[in-house]
Amino acid sequence: MRIIKYPHPTLRHKSKPLRRVDAELKRMIAEMLDLMYADRGVGLAANQVNLPYRVVVMNVESDPTAKDQEYVFINPVIIKRGGGTSEAEEGCLSLPEIYAPVKRSETIELATYNLAGESLQLRLSGLFARAAQHEIDHLDGMLFIDRLSPTAKLSVKDEVEGLEATFQGERDRGQIPSDQDIAARLAELEKERT
Ligand SMILES: [Zn+2]
Repeated sequence: MRIIKYPHPTLRHKSKPLRRVDAELKRMIAEMLDLMYADRGVGLAANQVNLPYRVVVMNVESDPTAKDQEYVFINPVIIKRGGGTSEAEEGCLSLPEIYAPVKRSETIELATYNLAGESLQLRLSGLFARAAQHEIDHLDGMLFIDRLSPTAKLSVKDEVEGLEATFQGERDRGQIPSDQDIAARLAELEKERT
């Protein structure tokens, strides 16, 4: 498992809710947590590791020893937004070195399942609310660069094009499968659990 980078097509995949959580999926989630901590991220969505599942792992302290801050959200849904909006700089492990301000709701109420299969309702605010909105966007194939103001978009244009060129280079060298092969693999994985 590795973190895929923009513009890998799986980052544009809109994932369907999971119907079951099995031992293999739990192993994948443990691996997602390891990757998130290794790259000092505060959140990671399944799309970012090339999986078509509505799963997000988070730890706003990005500290593997702060287990009380570690969350696994399965089929998370934002059921309410509040507190107005605020703007703050975001980055993404799939868009390395790119940072830009994004407007998000200040607070959200989240309905989700945890790894134990329990249904939870959480009220999040601050960085936790912002990061959760960023991660849930990933599950719908949405990236933070899609939410930038025209000025902010322009300010990251060169870096974004740089990632596109890198991806094309990897593809030309045969390191990345065709769109068709990627879609077929996602469909196969979806059939197993969604
Ligand atoms: Zn991200």
